Amino acid sequence: MNSNQIMVIYGNEPQKMIPPLLDAAGLLDDLKKDFVIGIKPNLVVAKESSSGATTDPELVGAVVEYLKVHGFNNLLIMESSWVGDSTKRAFKVCGYEEISRKFDVPLIDLKDDAYSEVRVDDLTLRICSKPLKVDYLINIPVLKAHCQTKLTCALKNLKGCIPDSEKRRFHSLGLHKPIAYLSTVLKTHLTIVDAIIGDLTFEEGGTPVQMNRIIAGKDPVLVDAYAAQLIGYEKDDIPYISLAERLGVGCADVTKAEVIELNQGTNSGKKFEASRQVMALAKYVVEKDACSACYGSLIHALERLRERGKLNALKAKVYIGQGFKGQKIEGIGIGLCARGCSISLPGCPPKARDIVEFLERLLK
Ligand code: SF4
Repeated sequence: MNSNQIMVIYGNEPQKMIPPLLDAAGLLDDLKKDFVIGIKPNLVVAKESSSGATTDPELVGAVVEYLKVHGFNNLLIMESSWVGDSTKRAFKVCGYEEISRKFDVPLIDLKDDAYSEVRVDDLTLRICSKPLKVDYLINIPVLKAHCQTKLTCALKNLKGCIPDSEKRRFHSLGLHKPIAYLSTVLKTHLTIVDAIIGDLTFEEGGTPVQMNRIIAGKDPVLVDAYAAQLIGYEKDDIPYISLAERLGVGCADVTKAEVIELNQGTNSGKKFEASRQVMALAKYVVEKDACSACYGSLIHALERLRERGKLNALKAKVYIGQGFKGQKIEGIGIGLCARGCSISLPGCPPKARDIVEFLERLLK
C-alpha cells in the first residue's frame, strides 16, 4: 500500500472485513518477525463501542488474530483514557480483557508508563515511553466529531500516548498545535479507522452514528483529511491537519489520494438504536432501505448544517435509500439510488462534505 492510498471496506462485521482489508493494505510486507507491534485503540472513556466513543473490540481482536496467525507474537495493546477515567476500567468495560486473554496480548495502561521529553521546535512534549519504543505502530481510532477540534480520528488519537498532566497542558495550548507536533514524533505506520459506529458530536460518545466501514491508510494526515470529509468538514476546519502537513507528517490534499473501495455498502446487517439527537435529524429524511454508510453520511451532513444555523431553512424532506431506485420523485434525493428525484446528489455512498455543499447550494 502506498502512502497516497486509502482503502475502504464497508460492513459491520470486523472479523470478516479485517483480513481482506489488511491483505489489500499489504501489512505483512511491512513487518519483520521480531518487531514489537503496538496497537493503539481509542478507549477514551469506559463505554462500549456501541456508544460511538470507543474502538470496537471485535475489530481490534481481528487485527490481533490476523497478526498472530501470520506469526507476529510481539504485540501490545496500549492506551491511556482521558483525564478522570481509568484505563483499566475502560479495558474491562470495552471488552479488551477478553482479547488479552484469548490472544495472550498484554494490555498496557499508559497512565502507569514512564515518559520521555522530546523537543519539537518551541515545544517540549512529554510522551509515554512504550509508544516511542515500538517498531511498528498501528493506530485504530474511531471516526468521531469533536466539540472542540471538530474531528477526532488518526492524529488526535495519539493524545492517548501522553501522560495525564500533558493532556491537560495540550488543552491549555489550544490542542491543534501540540496534536500536530506530537504526530512528528510518534510515527504511525498504519491507521485503521473504526468507522463502523462513530459519534455525531462528542468524543465521549452518546450520539452514535452508524457509518458501516473500516478505513486503512499509511498517511495519518491524509486519513484525517479524508475522515473530515466523511463527517461533513473540510481539512481547513481542523487546523491540526494542515499544521501536521506543514510539519512534513503527510499530505492533506484528498484530491491526491487514491481511494480504493474493496466492496460496496449494503442495507443489510445489524442496525443500532438511534439517539434522540439523531432521531431529531431523521425528521428531515424519508428513508427506505438505505445503507447505513449512506444514511450515516446524511445524518452527519444535517448536523453540520444545524451547527451552521442553516438546517431550519430546509423545508423539504430528503429522500435516501435503495427503496427509491428507479422511482420518479418530486424532491431532493441523496445517493445513486435516489437519482430519480427531481434534484439529486450522486455517490454510493456520498460523503457528508458533498451533501453539505449540495444542500447549502439549494438553500441559498
Ligand atoms: S446510494 Fe443506494 S446503494 Fe449506494 S450507499 Fe446509498 S443507499 Fe446504498
